[in-house]
Amino acid sequence: MVDSIFEKRGLLEDIYKQIDETAKLLNLSKNTIAKLKSPERAVVVSCPVEMENGEVRVFTGFRVQYNGSRGPYKGGIRYHPDVTLEEMIAMAALMTWKCAVVNIPFGGAKGGIACNPLEMTRKELMRLTRRYTEMIRPIIGPEKDIPAPDLNTNEDVMAWIMDTYSMVNQYTVPGIVTGKPKCIGGSEGRKEATGRGVAIITREISNMFFGKPVEVAIQGFGNVGSVAAKVLSDFGFKIVAVSDYYGGVYSADGLNIDELLSHVEKEGTVSTYPKGDKISNKELLELDVNLLIPAAVESVINSENADDVKAKVVVEAANAPITYEADRILNERGITVVPDILANAGGVVVSYFEWVQGLERYFWKADRVFRELEDIMISSLHEVLSVSKDKEVDMRKAAMMLALKRVAEAHEARGLWPQ
Ligand code: GLU
Repeated sequence: MVDSIFEKRGLLEDIYKQIDETAKLLNLSKNTIAKLKSPERAVVVSCPVEMENGEVRVFTGFRVQYNGSRGPYKGGIRYHPDVTLEEMIAMAALMTWKCAVVNIPFGGAKGGIACNPLEMTRKELMRLTRRYTEMIRPIIGPEKDIPAPDLNTNEDVMAWIMDTYSMVNQYTVPGIVTGKPKCIGGSEGRKEATGRGVAIITREISNMFFGKPVEVAIQGFGNVGSVAAKVLSDFGFKIVAVSDYYGGVYSADGLNIDELLSHVEKEGTVSTYPKGDKISNKELLELDVNLLIPAAVESVINSENADDVKAKVVVEAANAPITYEADRILNERGITVVPDILANAGGVVVSYFEWVQGLERYFWKADRVFRELEDIMISSLHEVLSVSKDKEVDMRKAAMMLALKRVAEAHEARGLWPQ
């Protein structure tokens, strides 16, 4: 049985409400608002794949380039049954704001394929990835649009994209993707970057709010949640609950994350970990803890459960885990939310480092990656906090103000073409 909390609603509508609200605070012109609300390009492709049993299945894929005013389009590719064009547009907008908040020279994009990778073999996934790459090839490129991993995609998928693109171009193009294996130009620290960035932001916020590491509940134990759990426990935080697609586990004394990681390696889920009480995803989100980190999918905190959240601070490790309405409710209840476009930006920050290393063909050591990641995360946090203080707005509005101001500035500086 899968928790019904994994549900998506009105994501794009929420994005547009946030743009309107922020544009008002920034006093942006009507023309600029119209630009900010329009995805620049969206392609829908169909990808026929011969499955292991000989049957041909046709999958629908997307790539949306939301805004390129600040640089080449950048964003992940996700494989999930619920992938839709609307979701991709919303996520591509979020990528635009995310790159702007941490001030890296990229625009925003997102792609995905509606498929269930849990039910597909490695060979089927490879064929699907290669066909999808070929279908979006005209609009991607190391100077145009650079994909990366996202939900249910990983460095293997990036290697297949890189290889397909390179074979067709007849030379190796490492800069076509980030988040690829190190043996073909992947950066040190990229795999852990999103989770590490979440942990850094959580540590800073926790020091500000509580003066010390406190107890944390984490929803999602994939590439983001599991790394955040590990790094936070190394920082001295007590991880009292974690969960995944199948359910979760709770221990008031704190979970041993190293043990839990080896359990997941063997069993494929945290939900069967024996040293703790079973807990559902819904219950995890409602735990009485100081810090809550939703690190799974979007809209898990919505108008139906926002009143039941008891955490004092929520750090958004997933993209858009809190709906617009739920965000309003949490705000009213005095709960601090650290927004996704800041909290989970570590992934794209190290993607930027990987891209730069690929262009220069000069590779950094891990300690440089971690040091520069930490610098960007902490300085961006302080920029957001200072806007929040000056303008007397919550952290999401502050982050949106910083982001939209930077995107609008770039757009206005470039002007329209043709005139
Ligand atoms: N998929 C990640 C995100 O949502 C990383 C994107 C990237 O590195 O381009 O931020």
